[in-house]
Amino acid sequence: MAERGSRHNSEEDKMVFETSPSVKVIHSFEELELNEDLLRGIYAYNYEKPSAIQQRAIKPIIQGRDIIAQAQSGTGKTATFSIGVLQRIDTSLREPQALVLSPTRELATQIQSVMLALGDYMNVQVHACIGGSSVGEDIKKLDYGQHVVSGTPGRVFDMIRRRNLRTRHIKMLVLDEADEMLSRGFKEQIYDIYRFLPAGVQLVIVSATLPQEVLELTTQFTTDPVRVLVKRDELTLEGIKQFFVAVEKEEWKFDTLCDLYDTLTITQAVIFCNTKVKVDWLTEKMRESNFTVSSMHSDMPQKEREAIMQEFRQGASSRVLITTDIWARGIDVQQVSLVINYDLPINRENYIHRIGRSGRYGRKGVAINFVKNEDVKILRDIEQYYSTQIDEMPMNVSDLI
Ligand code: ADP
Ligand code: MG
Repeated sequence: MAERGSRHNSEEDKMVFETSPSVKVIHSFEELELNEDLLRGIYAYNYEKPSAIQQRAIKPIIQGRDIIAQAQSGTGKTATFSIGVLQRIDTSLREPQALVLSPTRELATQIQSVMLALGDYMNVQVHACIGGSSVGEDIKKLDYGQHVVSGTPGRVFDMIRRRNLRTRHIKMLVLDEADEMLSRGFKEQIYDIYRFLPAGVQLVIVSATLPQEVLELTTQFTTDPVRVLVKRDELTLEGIKQFFVAVEKEEWKFDTLCDLYDTLTITQAVIFCNTKVKVDWLTEKMRESNFTVSSMHSDMPQKEREAIMQEFRQGASSRVLITTDIWARGIDVQQVSLVINYDLPINRENYIHRIGRSGRYGRKGVAINFVKNEDVKILRDIEQYYSTQIDEMPMNVSDLI
C-alpha cells in the first residue's frame, strides 16, 4: 500500500507514507472546507499550503475518525491536529471539548500558542494545564470556561480529579509524542485520564516515531483507526546532515565542543547530555572558559524554565542551549540549525527527535554526534536501524549550516 506523495512539488515527493486505503490527499486548505474564521487564521499565520501529513490527516480528524498519524519531525503535525480540533469544537459551548496531552510543559505551552494563533479569529479559549504553575490560576481559568486544554498528564489528572476540568463534553483526545506518552513513565497516567473521558472519545495519536509495540498498544483505545504511517527507513530527513566526531574518551568531548563554539553560534544550537548533572557540569565548565551558554533541565524552577525558553526563542542573548531529553521532542525553534549529541541518546527514538530540533519545515540542519570508542556500536546501530548515513565530520562543517 506504499503510496508516493503527489508529484506537485519536491517536498511531497520525498514523503512516502503507508496509508489506509480511505485516505485522500487534499492539496489546499480551501478544499478541506474549514470554517471561514479558521481558514482566515491559517492564512494569517502564513501557511499557504498544507504539508504532506496535513494533506492526509486533517480530513479524517474532522470526520471524527480515530487516527494514528506519523510524519517526520518538523513537517507540521501540530497544525494537523490543531486544525482538526479547531474545526471540530463548538465555540458557543464554553466547556472543554478537546484534550491534548504532551510530555513536557514547554511543549504543552507551545501547542497552546499554535492553537491560539490558528484560532485567532474564532474566539477560542485554549488553556495550558501544566505542572509547576499556580493551581489557583488553573482553577480560575478552567472555571472561566475553556474549549481546549493542552496539558501534561500530572496536572491534567489533578484537575480532572478535583472536578475543575470537566470531562463531560470532551470528544477528542490527542496524544502528541504518543510513543513517549504510552511509554513506561506515562502510560498509567494516560490510562487514569482516559477512564474519566466519555465513551467513544475520538483518539488522535501523533508522533514521528511509532514503534511496533506502541502501535499494538493503541488498539486498546482506538476503533478502526485511519493510519498514516512512515516507514522506518524514510524517517530521517534529507535536509539534516548527520556526522560523528570520534573522541576516544569522555575527557576529549569538552575540547571538541569548545573548538566548535563558533560553528554553534552561526545560528542557534542545542546540545544534548543524558543527565541533569552533566548539563549543570558542562554549563559551568563552558562558562568558566568564557563561552556564553544557556541551560535547561527539569530540576529548575518553572519560572526559570519559562525565562530560558523565552530567551532562546528570541535568539538574541541566547544562542546555545545545553539541555536534556526534556528538549528532545516537539519544541519548535526555527533558527536551530545545529544539534550536538554530547552524549548519544539511550533510545533510538530520541535520536530522531533530538536531531529533528534542527531542520524544521524543510530547513537545513546539521547533527553532530560525539562518540567514544565504546559508542561506535550504538551509532552504527542507529545508522542501520534508520537506513541512514552518519559520516565523519568534515573540516568545513560550518559551511553546511
Ligand atoms: P512536527 O510536530 O511535525 O515536528 P511542527 O508542527 O512543530 O512539526 O511544525 C514545524 C514547523 O513547520 C513549525 O514552525 C510550523 O509553524 C511550520 N509549519 C507547519 N505547517 C506548515 C504549513 N502548512 N506551511 C508553512 N509552515 C508550516
Ligand atoms: Mg510535534
